[in-house]
Amino acid sequence: MTDTTDQPVVHTPMMQQYLRIKADYQDILVFYRMGDFYELFFDDAKKAAELLSITLTARGHSAGEPIPMCGLPYHAAEGYIAKLMKIGESVAICEQIGNPATSKGPVERQVVRIVTPGTVTEDALLEERQDNLLVAIYFAKIYGIACLDVTSGRFVLQQVNSTDELLSEIERLNPAELLFNEDWSLPAALKERKGLTRRPPWHFEEISARKLILKQFNTHDLKGFGCEHLTAAISAAGGLLQYVKDTQQSALPHIQGIRVESSDDSILLDASSRRNLELDFHPSGQLRFTLFGVLDKTVTAMGSRCLRRWLNRPLRAQTLLNNRYDCVDALLKNNLYEAVRESMRSVGDIERVSARVALKSARPRDLLVLRDTFTVLPALQAQVAQTECSQINELAIKIGEQPEFLVLLQRAIIDNPPVLIRDGGVIAAGYNQELDNLRDLSQNANQFLMDMESREKENTGITTLRIKYNRVHGYYIEIPRSQSDVVPETYIRKQTLKNAERFFTSELKDFEDTVLSAREQSLAFEKKLYDELLDAIATILIPIQVSALALAELDVLANFSERSISLNLARPVLQVQRGINIVGGRHLVIEQVSDIPFVANDLDFSDTRQMLIITGPNMGGKSTYMRQAALIVLIAHIGCFAPATTVQCGPIDKIFTRIGASDDLTSGRSTFMVEMSETANILHNATENSLILMDEIGRGTSTFDGLSLAWACADYLAKEIHAFTLFATHYFELTSLPEEQATIHNVHLDAMEHGDNIVFLHAVKEGAASQSYGLQVASLAGMPGSVIEQAKLKLRHLEDNAYQEQLVEIGSKQLDLFAVSEPHPAVELIEKLSPDELSPREALEFLYTLKQTL
Ligand code: ADP
Ligand code: MG
Repeated sequence: MTDTTDQPVVHTPMMQQYLRIKADYQDILVFYRMGDFYELFFDDAKKAAELLSITLTARGHSAGEPIPMCGLPYHAAEGYIAKLMKIGESVAICEQIGNPATSKGPVERQVVRIVTPGTVTEDALLEERQDNLLVAIYFAKIYGIACLDVTSGRFVLQQVNSTDELLSEIERLNPAELLFNEDWSLPAALKERKGLTRRPPWHFEEISARKLILKQFNTHDLKGFGCEHLTAAISAAGGLLQYVKDTQQSALPHIQGIRVESSDDSILLDASSRRNLELDFHPSGQLRFTLFGVLDKTVTAMGSRCLRRWLNRPLRAQTLLNNRYDCVDALLKNNLYEAVRESMRSVGDIERVSARVALKSARPRDLLVLRDTFTVLPALQAQVAQTECSQINELAIKIGEQPEFLVLLQRAIIDNPPVLIRDGGVIAAGYNQELDNLRDLSQNANQFLMDMESREKENTGITTLRIKYNRVHGYYIEIPRSQSDVVPETYIRKQTLKNAERFFTSELKDFEDTVLSAREQSLAFEKKLYDELLDAIATILIPIQVSALALAELDVLANFSERSISLNLARPVLQVQRGINIVGGRHLVIEQVSDIPFVANDLDFSDTRQMLIITGPNMGGKSTYMRQAALIVLIAHIGCFAPATTVQCGPIDKIFTRIGASDDLTSGRSTFMVEMSETANILHNATENSLILMDEIGRGTSTFDGLSLAWACADYLAKEIHAFTLFATHYFELTSLPEEQATIHNVHLDAMEHGDNIVFLHAVKEGAASQSYGLQVASLAGMPGSVIEQAKLKLRHLEDNAYQEQLVEIGSKQLDLFAVSEPHPAVELIEKLSPDELSPREALEFLYTLKQTL
C-alpha cells in the first residue's frame, strides 16, 4: 500500500495563486477579489465568518478537501473593514489587476492595499473623537516607545525603565495597533490586547532605523530632535516607520518631526489607577459616567481628541498650567468663549484632512472642510483679538488665516461635490477654461443633437426621424422601416431592426468622436486639475497642521470656560510648598449622574497631615471622597478649573489608586496576589509628592492576612514615604495608627440611624467612625426584617468569639507553616488571650514573635 501523505498536494491554479499571495500575509486576513466579491479561504474564512457574523461555506475542493470560504460584496467592504479595524484585525486587499477576458488561467491579482487599525486615515474607518495611534515597542535593557498618529503626523518618542511604566504608557496611549519585535516575548499584560502586530527583528535594527528616520526628515543627524541618545526609542521608531511605509506604499510628507516626551513632565498614573479613576472609560461602555464624558463639550472633533490627550497626560509644570488658567479666565471675560465656540462650529477636522492631502487620498468633501474652516478664520481672529491674554494671542498667530487658499478653494470646488473625483463634476465651472470647453462639448451635445434632428427631419421630410444613443452603437439616426427607402445617400446603414433602420452620417460620426473623447478628456483633465489642487494645498501642510493643533487647543480652552460656568468650577491655586487644600470639593461625575444633591467635602493635606484613615459605613461615601480628591488634583493639572470652592495644590508627581476588590477574576490571579503586587508597586514607586488612594485593601482575603497587610502598608507609607495618602478601611484597628504617628489622622463618614434604617450624610468629619453600619445597609437594601434580626443575634455571638477564633486560625496557620504539630502549647496560649489583655495589634505582634521563636 502506498502512503498517500507523501503525494504532492494538488491545488487548482486559482488556489495556487491564492496560496502564493497568502504566504506573504500569514498573520492578516486576505480579501481575495472574485468578480463582485471579496472571498476569504481556509482559516481566514473561519475567522472572518465568526468576527463578521457572515456565513461560512465551502468553495469546491482543493487537494481533495472542501475549502472553507466566506465572501462579501465588494461595494459593502468598507463597513466590514471598519468592523475589523475596531477589533484590531488587519486586512490585505487583493485585487484583480489583469483583464479576465484575455488572461489564460486565473486573472492576475495583487495586494494593492494593506489596511491596518493603526494606519487607517479614511474617515469611515476612524472614531471621530478619539486618537488612532500606532505604537511600536522595542526592548533593549530599557523600553523604547515610538508613537505615531498617522492622521495628524504627530510622532513621539520616549523611553521608560520598568515594565510597570511601559504598561502605564500603553494604557495611556491606548494604541489601535501595537508593533513589537517578534523575537521578544511580550509582557503578559499586553498579550491580550487587540491590534498586536509582530514584526521581524531586523526592522528594529538601530543603524538602519537611524537611516530611515534621517531619510524621512531629510536631516543629517537627530540632534535637532533631542533623541540622538535614545537608542531603544530610535529602534522602535525605525520599526514603526518601516511598517507605515510597507502598509501605506506612499510617501509620508505630513510626518515632519519627532518629539521626545519624558514621563517627568507629567503626573504619572499607572495602568490600574487610570482604570479605577474612570477617566475616559467606564465598564458600562457609557462615556457619560467618565470624567471625559462630563468635561467634553468641545465643538470640534479635533478639540475633543485634544482634551482626551490632555486628560490622559496631566502636566506638572505649574507655569504651563497657569497659562491655561489665564486663557480660561480671558475667554470667560465678556463671555468671549461663547462667540469663539460659535465660530468653531464651522471648523472641520482639518487635521485629518491634512493627512489625507499628504497621502493624496483626500476626497472632494475634504477640500470643502478646508474651505469652510478657512472661511471662518478671519471672524475667529477678530474675536480673539478682543483679549489681551498673550497665550491666546499666540494661539491666534498659530491658527493664522489662508486668504489665498480660501479663494482658490472657493473657485475650484463646487458646493455639493460627489463623494469621489472618479466620475467628475467636482471642479467648479469657471475655474479652468480648458475644462469648461471640454465640458461644453459634451454638455452642449443635447442642443446639437436637437438642432441636427430637426434639420434632418426637414431635409428628408421624415417626421418620425429620431437621433438616439446607446452604449453599444453610439449615436445613430433611427427611421421607421416604412420610410427607409427615402433616406438620402449620405446616410450609411448601421443596423436593421424589425420595425426600424439605423443610420449614421459622417457629421454624426465626427460629432460622436468629439463628444466621447471630450467626455473622457474632461474626466482625465478634471482629475489632473484635482491632483494639482492637492499638490498646491500640500505646500501649506505644515501651516495647516499648526493651525489644526492651535484650533483644537482653543476649542478645549473655550470648553473649559463653558464648563466652569455650567459646572461651577473654581480656578485652582498652584503653590510651591507641599500640600493639598480643597474646600467644598465635589465629584463631578457622581454629581452629574446622581439624583440626590451632592454633599461637598473639604480635604487638607500638609506636612503635619499626610495620611487620613477613613472609616464609616458601607455606602457612606468613602470611595467617592477619595476619588474626588484624585480627580480634582487631576483636573487642576490639565489646566481646567476644578469642582470646589477653592483648591490649593503643591507639587504632585504621581497618583496611585488601589481598590481592594474581589472582581479581578478574569486575569486568573488571586485577588490577594493582585493586591499584594499592586501594593508593592506603590510602595516601590511612591514619593513624598505622590497622592495615594487605598480603598479597602485586604478585603479579598482572610481577616488577619488583610489586616496585617493593610496595617503594614499604612505604616510604611506614613513613616517611610510620607506620601499624601487617603486610606479607607473596614479594619477598625487601623484607627489607632494616629496614636503612633502624628502625621496620620482619622476622618469618618457619618450616617444617622433612623429606627432600623440609616441615613447617609456623606459628610466627612474628623475622628474615627463610631460603629459599623453593615446591617443597617443590608436593611436599606431591602433585606427582610427577620433576616436582619437573625443577623443581629449572630453578630453579637460572633463579636464574642471572633477575636479568639481568628487568633487561633492565624496562630495555627503560622504553626502549620513551621510544621509544628498540634496540640501545641502555643495554641493553648492563644486560646487564653482576650481583647482586654491584648489589642489585636499586640496579639499580632505576639504571634510574629512566637513565629520567630519556633
Ligand atoms: P463607600 O465607599 O463608603 O461604600 P461610596 O463612596 O461608594 O461609599 O458611595 C456610595 C454612594 O453614595 C455613591 O454611589 C453616591 O451615590 C453616594 N454618595 C457618596 N458620596 C456622596 C456625596 N458626597 N454626596 C452625595 N452622594 C454621595
Ligand atoms: Mg467604597
